[in-house]
Amino acid sequence: MVETRRYIKVILPLKLEWEPCYRTTEETVGVGDRVTVSFAGRRYYGVVSEVDVTPETDPSRIRPVDAFLPGLPAVSEVEIAFWRRVAEYYLCSVGEVFKAAYPSEKIQEEETGRRQEERLKARLEAWKTKLEKARTDATRERYAGTVRELEAELAATGDGPVRFNPVRLTEPQSFAMEKIREVFRSGKTALLKGVTGSGKTQIYMSLAQEALSAGKNVLYLVPEIALSRQLEERIREVFPQVLVFHSSIAPSRKREVAARCRKGKGYFVLGTRSALFLPHRDLGLIVVDEEHDSSYKQDAPAPRYHGRDAAIMLSRFHGARVILGSATPSLESLYNAEAGIYGMVTLEKRYYEGERPEVRVIDTRAERRKRGMVGSLSRKLLEEMVRTLSGHGQVLVLRARRSFSPSVQCEECGTVVKCPRCNVPVSLHKWGARETLVCHYCGHSEPFTGHCARCGGTLHPLGSGTQRVEEELKALFPEASIGRLDSDTGGDAAVVRDFAEGRTDILVGTQMVTKGFDFDRLSLVAVIHADGLLARQDFRADERAFQLLEQFRGRSGRRGEKGLLIIQTDEPDHPVIKALEGSGDGLVGTMLSERRAFSYPPYTRMVAVILKDTDHDRLASHSSALAAALSGIPVAVTGPYAPSPDRIAGQYIRHIRILLQRDRTLKNKKLRIWETIASFERERRYAGYIAIDVDPL
Ligand code: ADP
Ligand code: ZN
Repeated sequence: MVETRRYIKVILPLKLEWEPCYRTTEETVGVGDRVTVSFAGRRYYGVVSEVDVTPETDPSRIRPVDAFLPGLPAVSEVEIAFWRRVAEYYLCSVGEVFKAAYPSEKIQEEETGRRQEERLKARLEAWKTKLEKARTDATRERYAGTVRELEAELAATGDGPVRFNPVRLTEPQSFAMEKIREVFRSGKTALLKGVTGSGKTQIYMSLAQEALSAGKNVLYLVPEIALSRQLEERIREVFPQVLVFHSSIAPSRKREVAARCRKGKGYFVLGTRSALFLPHRDLGLIVVDEEHDSSYKQDAPAPRYHGRDAAIMLSRFHGARVILGSATPSLESLYNAEAGIYGMVTLEKRYYEGERPEVRVIDTRAERRKRGMVGSLSRKLLEEMVRTLSGHGQVLVLRARRSFSPSVQCEECGTVVKCPRCNVPVSLHKWGARETLVCHYCGHSEPFTGHCARCGGTLHPLGSGTQRVEEELKALFPEASIGRLDSDTGGDAAVVRDFAEGRTDILVGTQMVTKGFDFDRLSLVAVIHADGLLARQDFRADERAFQLLEQFRGRSGRRGEKGLLIIQTDEPDHPVIKALEGSGDGLVGTMLSERRAFSYPPYTRMVAVILKDTDHDRLASHSSALAAALSGIPVAVTGPYAPSPDRIAGQYIRHIRILLQRDRTLKNKKLRIWETIASFERERRYAGYIAIDVDPL
């Protein structure tokens, strides 16, 4: 019997500009099938992307497929089409997107629905036994919660309709819903702008119910899940079967969620950007909560995508609606709304009556002159804290730098101690009695001796990070219970819970504390040294600072009582500070016209090229040569320039920036940028690192 040879193309998890061809005699091969193949002497897991292709090279040189993997569920054509779109937009290979969507831990025999159900039942029984044996109320409560979750999930593995509890809307909320439906009917993405506490979440949940009732599925994206515990609980109350998905859940759990999506019957996923790459079926709605948040952007590795923008790309393949929401929308989204690409809907009023939190600015330069400062805290702030605490209110303090001290300096020779591997100062941390110098970029750490390595002089801490502020507060408020939240404390859920449940009076933390939390008794929020946030390093600095401070302000006075934001700064006249005192709309207008004047995004598209090399001179010559090559496209190129910091973990860094007009030539120019860089790498045999970042943040 003569077997017919067939040729197929395969997507491999590599930075490869093409999809290699393989042969097989398998008759039932189809697009999306999972295979293993050899490529350049190594074995890879791949996905069949085309069947019955005509080989472009000598057929005798085409290798056979090593194995078909029927145990792995096939990838849908919609998934592949989405990967191609992401790759095309973000100038990377389809294989790199595939790798992000199906990271290696996912490539094991995936579980069938049946086995999943059995596992769930076994887990449920185990937890029920644990619950019976629980000794304290707290553990009993925790175990009962897990049992409830597992029960809900088990119920969801059946084919019955997805269950949910009704959400009630206020009149302004219903009105906003009606407007959003109108935007959707016109085929546009909706942008919901509403102050913190106005009920945006309530609206997302109602929209989700509509989608589920129509037999569609829902993806609800959040920037970071660790900080969304409260949201998760709230969503679970309405959608008991919610599936939570983010990068740090167990691989087995990821497979379970993926299996549920593949089944496609009435699911609600709450996840971070990586949830976009689940094997979605019939999406009806994608919610992008806090759409302005820069955590939506993946820095590395490729694809360097933005969750919000990729969500809109994904929606097209499903005919899904997209709603973006924020109290402080990004300039990109405001621009799109102005241009009529998005439909904007606003919610003006907080659910709990009450004015917007007041803003009070404290000029720290003036206070220092008047001896109005106690360490890093002003007397004026301390007075307000005393007032709040004695009225049984809580206080949240933002200090944007973790550590005891952001840097240390020699009193004799003035040297600021730097990381041996990075061009940045090391910061001083205290862990119990242990004092350590730590680099926040590469993780390098060394014991703090207190003596300058250069001259032997005494090193002394410069400035205060969160640890030091916490220490100062403990000394000033010995009666108060004080907590700290930063990545050194692990962004601890227990710290947040203690504060939410009123066991802590004062919480000090980094940017983490500005996000998503809803604390009943929080009436005073304060920023120590806002100047670190206001420093103009790049064209987005003001936008970021404004969003951060406005979000932070929204944390206070959520339950009706009047809130207060105190800002300590050396620059009380800074436009961002002025905007917080006013409505903020003026600043948005100014920022947009500045962007237009300088031809910056959103008026243009930016592509950044990042080069890294351990050899400084080689990097300098290569980056200049690449910039010159790119200028020949022709496009507007700036750089190469040294970013700050310009050396991390022993690697020197250079950036090249390209600004592109948002017109019909855009797609073609992006493609030429990609080709130029690819051929540069080939011809120069450049061993350093080159990355392309489309729409960098
Ligand atoms: P946002 O998402 O805009 O910050 P939320 O949806 O979190 O606003 O609403 C703020 C608070 O008001 C929440 O505690 C929520 O429970 C409550 N709330 C808002 N709308 C309603 C409503 N229609 N019915 C009951 N409670 C509501
Ligand atoms: Zn370092």
